[in-house]
Amino acid sequence: MSHHEIPTGEKEARFAAQSVIVARILENGMRAYSEEITDLDAAFSTDDKVIRCIDEGTPGGVHLAGSGILMDAAQLTASLRAMGATGITSHSHCGAAGLYAKAQGLDPSKSDEYGREFAEKLSAETGVPYAGHIDELARPEEFHDAIACYYDMSGSFDPSHVADLPKGFVVSRKFLPAEYAQKELEIAISIAVGDHGYGELITAENPFLVVVVGGDGNALKEAREIVKKFGDKVRVETL
Ligand SMILES: [Zn+2]
Repeated sequence: MSHHEIPTGEKEARFAAQSVIVARILENGMRAYSEEITDLDAAFSTDDKVIRCIDEGTPGGVHLAGSGILMDAAQLTASLRAMGATGITSHSHCGAAGLYAKAQGLDPSKSDEYGREFAEKLSAETGVPYAGHIDELARPEEFHDAIACYYDMSGSFDPSHVADLPKGFVVSRKFLPAEYAQKELEIAISIAVGDHGYGELITAENPFLVVVVGGDGNALKEAREIVKKFGDKVRVETL
């Protein structure tokens, strides 16, 4: 993972544009905001059942942080089955693979290699085809430009299909044990409010947004348990 220079103002410009959307949502809530989105249905359909990272740079399909690199093996097998996964990807500049490298005491500069190796090994073990290493991210290589994280109980949510939705990570909560899904949510928020995300640009006035998509009150409760760790710079909405 090389460190590139971030073009001056690029992060600020993206943050400003995304913050406008979040401010509009917080005026009357996500439900009211979503009623004005004419193509909202498009967000409730996935292109495929290929596993991609929760990273906003790897939209589409179903999601697991680092394609499951941080997950218990038995839980991972069960989740792949629940998802009906048809492929497994890895990707460049993966924050989850970076966390894995750190936790294992490995060289963090090689985390993309570990991510790729993990996905290939998982494919060999499960028979779900390896669908390739995603090099072209739907975000700048240098930083995360997500201002939201979708905690998805629908199992088919893809915010990248709808321009009026804030850009975000997607946690495929429907297919995951609650405790592990909460861990993914915490990782996503930590990245966003940290050095690899918008960082200190995110404040109580210009917050990060967690959107619970579908489900009953339990998913909202789970999300709130994580969000409260971050104070008032992270807000929860439901869709
Ligand atoms: Zn990743």
